[in-house]
Amino acid sequence: MSRYIGPSCRQCKAEGTKLFLKGDRCYSAKCAITKSEAGANTRMKKGRPRTKISEYGIRLREKQKLRRFYGMNEAQFHRIYEIANKMSGQTGHNFLQLLERRLDNVVYRLGFATSRKQARQLVLHGHFLVNGKRVDIPSFLVSAGDVVAAAEKSRETALLKENAEVAAARTVPQWLEVNSEKIEGKIIALPARDQIDAPVTEQLVVEFYAR
Ligand code: SF4
Repeated sequence: MSRYIGPSCRQCKAEGTKLFLKGDRCYSAKCAITKSEAGANTRMKKGRPRTKISEYGIRLREKQKLRRFYGMNEAQFHRIYEIANKMSGQTGHNFLQLLERRLDNVVYRLGFATSRKQARQLVLHGHFLVNGKRVDIPSFLVSAGDVVAAAEKSRETALLKENAEVAAARTVPQWLEVNSEKIEGKIIALPARDQIDAPVTEQLVVEFYAR
């Protein structure tokens, strides 16, 4: 199955929640979900009846929401679930942790890209090194102790410089450490569940695949 290439905001509208797919716009008043909230409140006040959704539908929506949040196609996403399912411990947490450990996600979390989509492009174009070696595979899984840094030449590109400047004012998740000046970050530890801000109940996603 190919990757979705339509308008990003349409995916958020489909899930009825912000999936943060468009960088800074997602935090502004221009966000389609933010704009639609006022309208939705008005409709609720008018007592518009809600459509009943089946148990299967609830799980399907949760799965789609998570898949879209990380910007992945179904085949890749399911493959990661299968790996998580074979690991010891809680499948849901394993699954989220594997998704977070992807190099494109880490580049985004460190603030070196404004969205996961942009992070994926930057990784594909060879702008990042892991422990000093160029890695151009967005699905590469980082481990605790790894250092992710922009390649020397890439540090001078306007886009990366601009992203790093904006990132300097942001907080990164606790499991990461960032040096925005050097466009470099370290994975201190793998993320605990409460350090992952994915807007889902992962158990429902596990139940969807385990059905
Ligand atoms: Fe669009 Fe971002 Fe808002 Fe989603 S969160 S609707 S991608 S602006």
